[in-house]
Amino acid sequence: MTSWVNKVAARLRGSGPPSAGADRTITQPSPLAPPAAPGPQASLLLHLFEHSASGLVVCDAEGTVRLCSPVAAALLAATPAEVCGQPVEVWVTPLIDFTASAGDTALPAGQWETQAQRLDGTEFPVELTVSETPLDGEPARVLVLRDITDRRLNQQRLSDLANYDGLTGLPNRTLFRDRLGQAMARARRSRSAMALMFLDLDNFKVINDTLGHGLGDELLRQVAARLQACVREVDTLVRRDTASDGGAFTVSRLGGDEFTVIAENLASAESAVVLARRILEAMDEPVHLNEHQLHVGTSIGIAMYPSEDTDLDGLVRHADSAMYRAKYMGKGTYAFYSDELTLEVAARLKMESELRHAIERQEFALCYQPKARLDDGRITGVEALLRWHPPGRGAVPPDRFIRVLEDSGLILQVGHWVLRTACLEMAALRREGFPRLTLAVNLSARQFRQPQLARLVAETLQDTGFDADCLEIELTEGLLMEDHEATRLTLAGLAEMGVRVAMDDFGTGYSSLSYLKRFDIDTLKIDGSFVAELPDDPEDRAIATAIVAMGHSLQMRVVAEKVETAEQAQCLHEMGCDEMQGYLLSRPLPPAALRAWLRERHLHGPARAEPAPEARRSLPRLDIEVDTVPGAGP
Ligand code: C2E
Ligand code: MG
Ligand code: MG
Repeated sequence: MTSWVNKVAARLRGSGPPSAGADRTITQPSPLAPPAAPGPQASLLLHLFEHSASGLVVCDAEGTVRLCSPVAAALLAATPAEVCGQPVEVWVTPLIDFTASAGDTALPAGQWETQAQRLDGTEFPVELTVSETPLDGEPARVLVLRDITDRRLNQQRLSDLANYDGLTGLPNRTLFRDRLGQAMARARRSRSAMALMFLDLDNFKVINDTLGHGLGDELLRQVAARLQACVREVDTLVRRDTASDGGAFTVSRLGGDEFTVIAENLASAESAVVLARRILEAMDEPVHLNEHQLHVGTSIGIAMYPSEDTDLDGLVRHADSAMYRAKYMGKGTYAFYSDELTLEVAARLKMESELRHAIERQEFALCYQPKARLDDGRITGVEALLRWHPPGRGAVPPDRFIRVLEDSGLILQVGHWVLRTACLEMAALRREGFPRLTLAVNLSARQFRQPQLARLVAETLQDTGFDADCLEIELTEGLLMEDHEATRLTLAGLAEMGVRVAMDDFGTGYSSLSYLKRFDIDTLKIDGSFVAELPDDPEDRAIATAIVAMGHSLQMRVVAEKVETAEQAQCLHEMGCDEMQGYLLSRPLPPAALRAWLRERHLHGPARAEPAPEARRSLPRLDIEVDTVPGAGP
């Protein structure tokens, strides 16, 4: 059979008569052959064929290329002669499987995007417009080829912008949600466990604020790289026996210092723990930024799917609240989501918003708990303890809200109020003729880390007229483990003013001798947990005895807290402990009750005028006898 192309080709070669449809066809010589005097219309068509910005290819019913324009040949990095005579699929990837149903349907009419191959085998994307046209009674296809490499690149760039985080190159929130949706669907299908982890860096804000955003960005890049290295390392956690396809881990950055890991195909929730531990370990390694060596630390919240029956937003919320729980549990750790947690977090947020206005609404008050010497029962001082009275509810104990104040940063403001109010109230007590008592004020680590803390204390003392040498700051051990130089400077500043420092709840933290030696500490307060079982528990006896010995060897006073029975007091006295505090002596008392309590014990001299500030320091100490260690107070 002679196809139309043969006829055209023959004509292009100048042999054979023109056909009846010659005015519709390419009847003039193509780039394949030298032209034979074309008519004006054919000449125009030939011009279009040769100069069209798109490449033009004509192939016959069998799919063999019969004509190729110079532009098409240039796109394919070949000459027209090299293109012609070859099956079209050599040059253009068919749109459906050629072998399945050969011929016409492999390149159906329409506009498509596919790949084209150059002569050297390299590929590039093309937009292909395929039309069928009968030429000389034979079906033929005209292919218009347009190189869309640039368009693809732009599309890719736009998609990258929309889907990836510019700083770390990790998937952003948009792509994260996309991937999470797919992972959840796969987990449902394959019934294999999937974990969603929310990570939040523990110290990022401080680092970013102090070292600047440039180093902050670099830190985030290093964290991203570490996370990716971690998930590569734990690839063995993934079950390979499930029907599920798709990537095992996706690390994303949602913004700020918030990262997520989607871990698919896990054998169990324990595998999620293995991964979480590995990440915590990796994050625990210091990060080197210029000359700085930083410890970032991270908290991880984990939500499991499909065991947690929820939708995408629900799962994200679960992982997020689990992360808060991890932070709450003390940072540098992981936590799973549970239903109770949702309630817990909701209550916490509610409390935070209530606490935000508690100072101006005057909902805070202070109680004072007396301390006494164990040898002669003399009252030495009081500790100020914060109380919160939200309207319409009973008093909320500090253990329930101090943490919320700390996490929200409100502690700075509230802590300042406590210090000021306690100094004012105790100075007033003195003016009324009560004895000179020491005042202990609890400071949280966050307050103590304020660079201007010593100055703030000095200003407060000046404003309130309270004596520096009657003030004692109570700190907890954890604080001394971090940031040595700044801590040492603040402690030295306080010591210079004559303010004393006590180590509260001693024995529950790191209890390291070396830091006790290094820092200026005046008093150790034995934690109540070692007092509760005295005198019977031999271990607690041993611990309390050791703390007393350690304190004394470092010239510190030792105070026992939460002393509730006379036996405990006796036992502590025998150990050589200096002072006691606890319900045995008195419960924490509001100011009016404290006045009454002191009066009952005849600790109230005649009222006298407040001495001039410069005279204050030289006043003789009023050591007033208390009859015996009295019974529990009100
Ligand atoms: P803390 O400084 O160790 O205070 C001792 C806690 O033990 C107080 O609890 C006190 O009421 C309680 N307590 C005293 N004697 C006894 C006793 O004989 N038996 C028992 N079981 N408990 C006794 P509170 O007032 O609930 O305070 C709890 C913690 O909250 C304090 O522990 C302190 O760490 C913190 N806190 C209290 N006020 C403030 C404050 O103004 N600022 C800061 N940063 N923390 C505060
Ligand atoms: Mg205390
Ligand atoms: Mg304590």
